Amino acid sequence: MPMRLVMKFGGTSVADGLRIKNVASLIRGFYDDKNEIVVVVSALSGVTDELEKEAKKASEKGDVAEIDLFIKRLAKRYHDATKEAIDDKEITKKVIEGLNLKLDDLRKSLISISHLRELTDRSHDYLSSFGERLSTPILSGVMRSMGLDSISLTGGEAGIVTNSIFKNARPLFDITNDKVRKCLLPLIEIKKVIPGVSGFIAVDKNGVITTLGRGGSDYTASIIGAAIDADEIWIWTDVDGVMTADPKFVPEARTLPVISYLEAMELSYFGAKVIHPKTIEPAIQKGIPVRVKNTFNPEHPGTTIVKAHEEIKDIVKAVTIIKNVALINVSGAAMAGTPGVAARVFTTLAEADVNIMMISQGSSEANISIVVDEASLHKAINALKSEFREDVVKSITHDEDVCAIAVVGAGMAGTLGVAGRVFSAMGRVGANVRMISQGSSEANISFVVNEKDVEKTVIALHDEFNLGAER
Ligand code: ADP
Ligand code: ASP
Ligand code: MG
Repeated sequence: MPMRLVMKFGGTSVADGLRIKNVASLIRGFYDDKNEIVVVVSALSGVTDELEKEAKKASEKGDVAEIDLFIKRLAKRYHDATKEAIDDKEITKKVIEGLNLKLDDLRKSLISISHLRELTDRSHDYLSSFGERLSTPILSGVMRSMGLDSISLTGGEAGIVTNSIFKNARPLFDITNDKVRKCLLPLIEIKKVIPGVSGFIAVDKNGVITTLGRGGSDYTASIIGAAIDADEIWIWTDVDGVMTADPKFVPEARTLPVISYLEAMELSYFGAKVIHPKTIEPAIQKGIPVRVKNTFNPEHPGTTIVKAHEEIKDIVKAVTIIKNVALINVSGAAMAGTPGVAARVFTTLAEADVNIMMISQGSSEANISIVVDEASLHKAINALKSEFREDVVKSITHDEDVCAIAVVGAGMAGTLGVAGRVFSAMGRVGANVRMISQGSSEANISFVVNEKDVEKTVIALHDEFNLGAER
């Protein structure tokens, strides 16, 4: 039966011209089956990283010659991809003209940053939006060259409106749902067009470009999927689905055919980069299944993420890693029995806009450990030091050479002995546990280890719960 589908293609799936062509052929297959399709596109792989790096460099060094070199390199990559992907000469020319206008804007903006020597979050979002704004017209052009009707839209043009928290903007759903429906439904229902929408980016109420946070194209797909009541949201990536561990660390990792929304959220919040943590929220609201599939192996059924949970056979489903975290220890003998210290820690960090990823308090109450994103570490330490100056807290220390690991599975709730097995397995490989915390949903146990122990820990846990074995 024909379906209404939102399909998102990640950076590696559109890394060059041949891959973009391959993606367009995949889309054509599903369109020919009479499905209504909205396509969400990421930047070519690595481009968002490069844009961020270049913007920072421009603000620090102000080297115009370097900016020109960067633009030249980027232009070559996007031009080559266009020529490789599109057979029709006229369409190629039009797409390249459009890209050149944007590349010129990007160049001018980088030069302005280099004069100002200042990079605000708002300019950061404007600059990093170019990855998606340059890739989407290419895919739309390829579809047109294949005889499909397609137009290219930015996230803002497609109707996604967010607050003005740059770098991590949240959609204003009331406005967004309405605008997205008004923009996209006539295109897919009546005109039978395949809209190509730039992932990751949106606009605030004043029309200023915002971004949804790194990896946010997945979120774009689910925001759109929920707004237009899609039958399914498909996240096309470079692996066969959500797996029992990151296959880059654990070669034995196996694809999970079905997982629940809750498990998918826990997995992504605890480091499974394959889906952006916020992707599941809009899908849950409308009960829309999310499918994760491999562009390089489209025959593979992938993973389906649904509300109803399959029969619980496995207590533990997967092991994940969060890198780039830091552990902060707040301690002092006088903390024991002094009420309100934890509350002050929370409030102070919230006011400093630091997100707490994990927290645990020893039973002696003389120590509170907190895990934060490495990027917020200095902000966190400064805020805590000024809050607790002459106070019950005697020392605030931190360690950046750590990673967080989580063992995830909805079946863990109420099952005894999981933590015991986790920590015995770690003991066997000599990995030291620096901090432990259990999520309130009980669908995960998470803990911190030294960076050097991370690989052997993940492999040991994957083994302990026999996650690689076929079910
Ligand atoms: P895309 O560019 O398609 O958005 P990402 O790089 O953001 O792709 O996410 C896909 C990557 O996520 C995979 O290549 C894999 O290395 C990593 N990953 C981490 N944990 C998992 C997991 N549990 N299952 C599958 N992939 C994972
Ligand atoms: N291009 C953006 C990033 O690299 C968004 C995404 O790929 O999902 O973070
Ligand atoms: Mg991604």
